[in-house]
Amino acid sequence: MQIIDGKQIAQNVKDGLRKQIIEFAEKGMRIPQLVVILVGENPASLTYVRNKEKACEAIGMATKTVRLAEETTQEELLKLIDELNADTAVDGILVQLPLPDHIEERKILNAIDSSKDVDGFHPMNIGKLLIGEQTNIPCTPKGIMRMLESIGYQDLSGKRAVVVGRSNIVGKPIAQLLLAKNATVTIAHSRTAHIEQICQEADIVIAAVGVSKLIKANWIKEGAVVIDVGINRDENGKLCGDVDFEDVKEKVKAISPVPGGVGPMTIAMLLENTLHAYIEHERGIENGRTTI
Ligand code: NAD
Repeated sequence: MQIIDGKQIAQNVKDGLRKQIIEFAEKGMRIPQLVVILVGENPASLTYVRNKEKACEAIGMATKTVRLAEETTQEELLKLIDELNADTAVDGILVQLPLPDHIEERKILNAIDSSKDVDGFHPMNIGKLLIGEQTNIPCTPKGIMRMLESIGYQDLSGKRAVVVGRSNIVGKPIAQLLLAKNATVTIAHSRTAHIEQICQEADIVIAAVGVSKLIKANWIKEGAVVIDVGINRDENGKLCGDVDFEDVKEKVKAISPVPGGVGPMTIAMLLENTLHAYIEHERGIENGRTTI
């Protein structure tokens, strides 16, 4: 059984990004910048935002967090996004979710310039993903594909993949990416009947559910590869995934742990998307046009 060490793969990605940023700086070019917008005081969001700040700093990427009060109106937030869209020193704009109830999440995400949408949640980027154009791919699914590549799963021809979960940020986009690599993909979810049997047929199981240790050994085919996206707390308050790691570990060919699996990859892909957006923006300026 192989552990897919997301933390290490993410570190390798970040080392590469750091080198590129140093090279840009040495050429006298501007430094790529990610702006994170945080509305309110959700404790989990505060932690995520802090982690993103630290990750940017570690690779020499410029970062700014705009902290707004819970009472901020939708109009105020839209105005800020307009300003950031027009700011040529900003490459990536990330609005930390969830937003307070009085703000319509979709309106906000749609307002971000699609070239700066490093989360990959803008309809333009979701559409591009569907037709196989690989720009600003959502970070968690992109990280999962990198983890599969790390164990030699590049072309998935002939492989059956089951994605458990159908969210817009993980389940649906990862299913598209697996399909683009020629896997035969099934999406299972809370209304799926006989879900264990469906998973038992899978060569690759992606668990993106949000239920602690839901997936047990009897869901898994001998020799399957399992990627666990879930971030949950077990009965003792310890971090755990959607997969019962101890139960399935003897059966799988490879598995990603929680913590230290998909989580670090998500942040590394956010940084990579921001650097790619920067390269595209710089290219646009060089060619005498702005991409905005
Ligand atoms: P979500 O709540 O939006 O979606 C969960 C999906 O699971 C739904 O489509 C639902 O139909 C399905 N589901 C719920 N209960 C089920 C059950 N009993 N059987 C089968 N399917 C069931 O969640 P999400 O945003 O996709 O996140 C899923 C998990 O992944 C969460 O634990 C979240 O914290 C974690 N997550 C981790 C990262 C990361 O970077 N590691 C990123 C995003 C999400």
